[in-house]
Amino acid sequence: MRIRIHHITLCPGTEGEGSIPFIENAEVQIDANRIVYAGTSVSAPQFTADESMDGEGCLCMPGMVNLHTHTPMTYLRSVGADLVLSDWLNKAIFPLEKQWDADLIRSATNLGCMEMLRFGTTSFNDMYFYTDVMSQAVEQNGMRAMLGHGIVDFDESCRDMVEGVEMAEKWNHAANDRIRFSLAPHSEGATTPKLLARVTETAKKMGLPIHIHVSETEADVKGCWKRHGKTPPAFLEEIGLLDSPVIAAHCVWCDERDITILQKHGVTIAHNPISNLKLASGVAPISRMLKKQCKVAIGTDGVASNNNLNLWEELKLMPMLQKGVTLDPTVVTPAQTLAAATSVGAKALGYNDLGMLKAGYLADLILLDLNKPHMNPQIDLESNLIYSAQGSDVRLTMVDGKVLYRDGRFTTLDRDTLLAQAREGAQTMRRRLDSVQA
Ligand SMILES: [Zn+2]
Repeated sequence: MRIRIHHITLCPGTEGEGSIPFIENAEVQIDANRIVYAGTSVSAPQFTADESMDGEGCLCMPGMVNLHTHTPMTYLRSVGADLVLSDWLNKAIFPLEKQWDADLIRSATNLGCMEMLRFGTTSFNDMYFYTDVMSQAVEQNGMRAMLGHGIVDFDESCRDMVEGVEMAEKWNHAANDRIRFSLAPHSEGATTPKLLARVTETAKKMGLPIHIHVSETEADVKGCWKRHGKTPPAFLEEIGLLDSPVIAAHCVWCDERDITILQKHGVTIAHNPISNLKLASGVAPISRMLKKQCKVAIGTDGVASNNNLNLWEELKLMPMLQKGVTLDPTVVTPAQTLAAATSVGAKALGYNDLGMLKAGYLADLILLDLNKPHMNPQIDLESNLIYSAQGSDVRLTMVDGKVLYRDGRFTTLDRDTLLAQAREGAQTMRRRLDSVQA
């Protein structure tokens, strides 16, 4: 399929330097799953398209990357809201998570993907269970995802580890390379040193990245000090885990030495400002991390600690929080913020041809409606984009050259069925839990 999107304002994307570029009277030409041209219409080469889309009044920009989530947790939306973290996990979340089955995971994954597509997210990085079913769902719904089977082993049985490796062998680079795999040990505190050593060795051998929660709460850091006499980043460095490409979720409780370690090893920090606020974990020192040239991307975390998968909320909150905490409005720029939602996350997923709209890059893009009251006037479009835009302004979402969402319609997912399944599925899980507890 050859697609031409014209009459657009083009945002080719950014790696975080300077200000965000915009090109008026532009067009994008797509052949199969690749962009062959992105620039002004005047200098565009001749292109015969199967479909020509008029994007008048729209901004065409790279699709967003949600770099840390647990997608099936859509079915746990609002479960245990406003509890303290330990009660939230142990009393509300964990008991319900024992009630999953493959069908529920499939529909909960698709509900999450539908929500992400609606809000312009084209890729996500996930850590959860039933990754075989999740991979099947992603294969069919057309999104791009890096999945990792959550490894939580206290008994050193390495059961999760074995399954994680099996799934990676089965699915890494599947679905035209839309699906990739990581190894995903939950965190230092929810695993053993022996297991983390095995993960480190296996990741190197298989060439897989590692996705792990790091220093999410003050208790995580205190526990690590008690167990190992150092902070989680220092411990992970010591055992060699940071020598692989690593996506470290949260990094809220990091001191200057931790930040230096993360920078030195090229770790990508997945910042989840809303989850960190909702669970009262704190505010990550993002401005100091950016100042030290750390790679910072953003994520929603699971729906249960958010309550949605609308990455535009994180996009606004990331700079706002840093301004408020440092009392300095210049600490995080719009370009750094947009990069955190696009190009930085794309690289962390292992792609060198994703996260920007350039010739040769993968065609993952969105159209954003600029003809909205809150987007006008356009005195400073980059400020409008970061501080005014809403997820609901997304009119079209394309992944790998295929339109998956357009003006209220999903092309691979049935909205009404998924909504009915969500209500039913949540009740099923609750009923199962009640019968276990009775
Ligand atoms: Zn998480």
